[in-house]
Amino acid sequence: MSQRIAVTALRIALVYALLGALWVSVSDLILSRLVSADWLQVIHAYSDWVLVAGAAVALFLLVDRELRARQRAEDVVRQSEARFRALVQHSADVIFVLSEEGMIRFASPNLETVLGRTVPPGESLNILEVVNPPDRENAARALDDLRREPNAVAATEFRAMHVDGSLRTLEVWGKNLLLDPTVEGILLNARDVTERKQYEAEIQRLAYFDPLTGLANRRLLRERAKQALALAKRRANIAALLYLDLDRFKAVNDTLGHDAGDELLQQVAQRLTKCIRDSDTLSRLGGDEFAILLTEVRAEEDAAVVARRVVQALQESIWVQQQAVHIGTSIGIAIYPRDGTTFEEVIKHADIAMYRAKQEKAGYQFYRPELSVYTRERLVLEEELRRALEQNELVLHYQPVLAVTDRTVAGAEALSRWLHRQRGEISAGEFIGIAEETGLIVPLDRWAVSSAVRLGRASLQGGWGGWVAVNLSARSFADPDLVSHVARSLELEGLEPTRLVLEITESAAMRNPDATADLLHKLKDVGVLVALDDFGMGYSSLAYLKRFPVDILKLDKNFTRGIGSDAKDERLIEAVITLAHSLGVQVLAEGVEQQTQLNWLVSEGCDLVQGYLIGKPRPSAEFEIVQRVPFDADGSAAMAYRPFPEY
Ligand code: C2E
Ligand code: CA
Ligand code: CA
Repeated sequence: MSQRIAVTALRIALVYALLGALWVSVSDLILSRLVSADWLQVIHAYSDWVLVAGAAVALFLLVDRELRARQRAEDVVRQSEARFRALVQHSADVIFVLSEEGMIRFASPNLETVLGRTVPPGESLNILEVVNPPDRENAARALDDLRREPNAVAATEFRAMHVDGSLRTLEVWGKNLLLDPTVEGILLNARDVTERKQYEAEIQRLAYFDPLTGLANRRLLRERAKQALALAKRRANIAALLYLDLDRFKAVNDTLGHDAGDELLQQVAQRLTKCIRDSDTLSRLGGDEFAILLTEVRAEEDAAVVARRVVQALQESIWVQQQAVHIGTSIGIAIYPRDGTTFEEVIKHADIAMYRAKQEKAGYQFYRPELSVYTRERLVLEEELRRALEQNELVLHYQPVLAVTDRTVAGAEALSRWLHRQRGEISAGEFIGIAEETGLIVPLDRWAVSSAVRLGRASLQGGWGGWVAVNLSARSFADPDLVSHVARSLELEGLEPTRLVLEITESAAMRNPDATADLLHKLKDVGVLVALDDFGMGYSSLAYLKRFPVDILKLDKNFTRGIGSDAKDERLIEAVITLAHSLGVQVLAEGVEQQTQLNWLVSEGCDLVQGYLIGKPRPSAEFEIVQRVPFDADGSAAMAYRPFPEY
């Protein structure tokens, strides 16, 4: 600025000197040419005055212009300073200028808003003194980085103490401007991010924690498990995952309401917390399912110890809304790496083991590969089957059995079908196994007996003289009320006992031949017919045929399939027919699908045939129509069955 002023002043002086010199040297010469001598004299008398006046005007114009320019420049500077001051004062950030030692030389006014304090001129305060002690080391390190060289830049975050005792989180950016003459200090720009941090923490909480119990959710469990599995691998250690499902939670929820259910889950969470160490992760997976991740497990037994502790803790009653409720838990345990090398695998196996524990009411169970049949879908199906039975979702379909000699429908086998609401029709093969394992087969078989007897009665009224056959599972044999149930059903409908056939499989019969013989005799006393199902599947029970009071022998479909291609099968069928006939037992061939099979069976003297060629299992309403279709009186066997393949 001062330099510019000197230049301007010099310029003005030079212009003045030049004009003056010009005037002095050339004015006479020019004037003497232009005007007469008399006039020249007059002009001479006033020329000095003219010079003075000209110089004054020139000076005025130049100085005025220069002063205006200066004014404009100053205005610009003042405006921009004001703008910067306003920015500093009203900025959400706190701006500090520090000495090299970190003493606060300047702090923008909103330090008062952020930390509730000011730094009056003269007071010496080191920036580190406002930093929360645990964060000081970090902050000091950042300051060191800044001091290292001119223009060094550093960013850090620390919590600073508000005078009200609270802590504010500051995000700080700094630059070393010690050599910048306008600053001559370390510039810090600090932003209060406390609220943002709180939001972030909240988001984190929502993303990783269960809002009801405050426990880790599945996602956090997965992350911790991944770390634990990696660590266990590095240290050649094991880790254990316990999968818990509360035992009577649904009942509590249904009877006491959702609020009680929520309270119960919270209390369970508290109890579980007491069963584990801080380094373990307790997680709520949803509903009434929890998981515990045990790290630093030395042996399997350590996991069993925790499981026992948990079972014990949840056995004691819990008070919910002034009521003592008794729940309990079933736990499945999977061990890493033995039962899986990924989190997904480990948790799946712990889940499977849990279901097993629940079924066996065993408290806890370690995973074993054999348990894998107890999958969740399967258990869901089991639960639904229970409901299906109560809510009449099961129906019986009837498959006709043709009497070869008189070409009539001798009877019909009742086969269970599940009309599932979502999945549609489920065949017996898909659910009978589950029903058998869970014991649901006993009520199912009873239901089948009553329903079939009812159909037998209705068909009788419709003029059909055949029998209905019902399958009985091995477990139904053990049902002490089976015989009386059969008798009662027949009595109730007023159906002749000979119109009911009970089918038991050869394999089931051979499990305990004495008990089977006993039961069959009791059933014979009632008067029903007995069929030995799936016969010939390698149980060599031909000898037992004499001991079992059997009316019909049902040759397994596998033999029928061999007709025409497998001489061994054909020879076996021949032998069975001969032997059965010698004992007064009728032979029924199952699974007849082809005309050639039928022809061969007829030629061999087989008494009864059943299979898709004759008719598929159909709903009872359709079956009743079948009975009324008249057989072709004179035709060949092929003609006789012609009405059937339409189903
Ligand atoms: P099963 O007693 O041997 O019944 C015959 C099975 O063969 C039935 O299967 C039937 O639909 C099927 N079938 C009939 N004709 C043919 C044919 O020509 N070819 C072929 N490939 N298959 C044919 P479904 O209905 O799936 O029943 C399977 C098994 O489930 C039955 O075998 C029986 O052991 C059992 N079951 C069915 N209903 C009940 C029931 O109410 N109680 C009990 N305890 N078991 C039942
Ligand atoms: Ca059968
Ligand atoms: Ca069979």
